[in-house]
Amino acid sequence: MEHETFFTLMMDALDGELAEDGRAELESHLRACPRCLREWQALSTIDALFRQTPALRPATDFVQRTIALLPDRRLRLWTMGVMYLFLLLSGIIPLLIGAIVYTLLRPAFSQPTVWESLLQSVEKIFQVMGTVLNALFISAGEFIGQNPAALGWLLVMIGIVSLWGGVFRQAVIQPGQISS
Ligand SMILES: [Zn+2]
Repeated sequence: MEHETFFTLMMDALDGELAEDGRAELESHLRACPRCLREWQALSTIDALFRQTPALRPATDFVQRTIALLPDRRLRLWTMGVMYLFLLLSGIIPLLIGAIVYTLLRPAFSQPTVWESLLQSVEKIFQVMGTVLNALFISAGEFIGQNPAALGWLLVMIGIVSLWGGVFRQAVIQPGQISS
């Protein structure tokens, strides 16, 4: 069988739709073929990341179907790598920025007047954000109505946010259990 056929088997396996003989066939090929094994590891890692939260299932299926549509297996691996990096960065960058801002502004925070003006500007920012978000949601609704695929990516984005919420909670509340 061609490597391409095994990619289809991997997709079925992740969907839980691979029969016993297909699974045995895939496993024996993975033992013999490092290329397919790498692809399988990348696929199942991403799959596991997405499936940590049941609400992510639509996003997972969408990602797998999108990746399966790509014609070239190198392109598929590359896309998975980028997605994986993107997942990592999308969680790490806000934390980094938060840490940097906190470190830079910490001396100023000890002065009460700074807190007051900060609270006032936060209030203003929320007012502006409310208006902007309102407009965004209205136009996003129209956009999704015209481009159903955008809903898939929206699910992926929501998935990333809740995924990192879960990873963060695990890391903070139960350190050491994150790698299990
Ligand atoms: Zn192979």
